[in-house]
Amino acid sequence: MNNSNDSNNTYDLIIIGSGPAGLSAAVYGMRAGLNLLVLEQNPMSGGQVLNTYEVDNYLGMPGSNGFDLGMKFKEHAQAMGVPFRKGAATAFAERDGIKQVETADGAVYEARALILAMGAEHALLNVPGEQEYKGKGVSYCATCDGAFFKGMDVAVVGGGDVAVEDAIYLSRMCRKVHLIHRRDSLRAAKSLQDKLFACENVEVHWNQTVSAIYGKDLAEGVTLRSAADDGESRLAVEGVFIAVGMRPNTGAFCGSFEQDEGGYLVAGEDCAASVPGVFAAGDIRTKQVRQIVTAVADGANAVYSAERYLR
Ligand SMILES: Cc1cc2nc3c(=O)[nH]c(=O)nc-3n(C[C@H](O)[C@H](O)[C@H](O)COP(=O)(O)OP(=O)(O)OC[C@H]3O[C@@H](n4cnc5c(N)ncnc54)[C@H](O)[C@@H]3O)c2cc1C
Repeated sequence: MNNSNDSNNTYDLIIIGSGPAGLSAAVYGMRAGLNLLVLEQNPMSGGQVLNTYEVDNYLGMPGSNGFDLGMKFKEHAQAMGVPFRKGAATAFAERDGIKQVETADGAVYEARALILAMGAEHALLNVPGEQEYKGKGVSYCATCDGAFFKGMDVAVVGGGDVAVEDAIYLSRMCRKVHLIHRRDSLRAAKSLQDKLFACENVEVHWNQTVSAIYGKDLAEGVTLRSAADDGESRLAVEGVFIAVGMRPNTGAFCGSFEQDEGGYLVAGEDCAASVPGVFAAGDIRTKQVRQIVTAVADGANAVYSAERYLR
């Protein structure tokens, strides 16, 4: 392993991921005078927030555009002088208490403490046609791809906040939005449900699952299966937006750390993971509410815990 640290020194702290949790940790870490580095796999920082068209529940900033909010988080960290490096963390090792992080390009970074803030990403539906029509009608991001379906009929699959937000967003540009939900009630927040039911061009298909996505060169529709009698029917749509939950970005990198059955890193409010000196912040850890405000709070807690560990 070749050491890639700028000064050939070991950092106090490496933060992996620069969504709200990682950026908050970076700001707190700089204020604490730590010699730190933030590793981010994407060209842009901000995490999931960048794909959120409206954030209405972040205190003091009602009605924010998600992209702008993500940019503000990044600008705050930049103004504090946070050093960023592009790299996808792929492997973890520990030698004599020093944590080593290897990135996809083969670089190796060393630190005495680590904050894992890699967040989460959309879960797959895992039905025939999903992979085949990905990018050809199947999307996981209404704010990114919705404009391609202007004036068309689309389906949104799911029943949580994200699915309902997506359906509302798409209703503003699509001819008709079919929300397909496997139960007889939605999990989404009441305020979102109220907005959804006020949309005249949204139809909710209750107690239905999507068993396949069909088409030719592009997706042309979904096969619905009724929860009541397993009967199947076809629904013609040009776009299929899948919003059936999230899964943590733990992957191979996190094999050394304890995870729950869903793959989330086991850590409490102090963010301490199962290996001393490693902390999990934001959506990647076991917690009740995965939101920007809790991710940002984790960033502060994780740095506080890391500082105590380093001392
Ligand atoms: C469509 C949508 C709408 C939402 N709406 C709201 C809302 O209105 N209000 C609200 O409070 N919350 C909302 N959320 C949830 C909120 O965005 C998340 O809770 C929050 O972004 C979690 O922050 P995080 O920093 O833990 O993770 P993330 O935002 O997921 O950021 C993780 C970062 O880590 C990077 N990364 C991942 N793996 C690696 C790796 N191996 N190496 C290097 N970097 C890596 C990623 O590229 C990313 O930049 C929404 C989420 C979605 C998807």
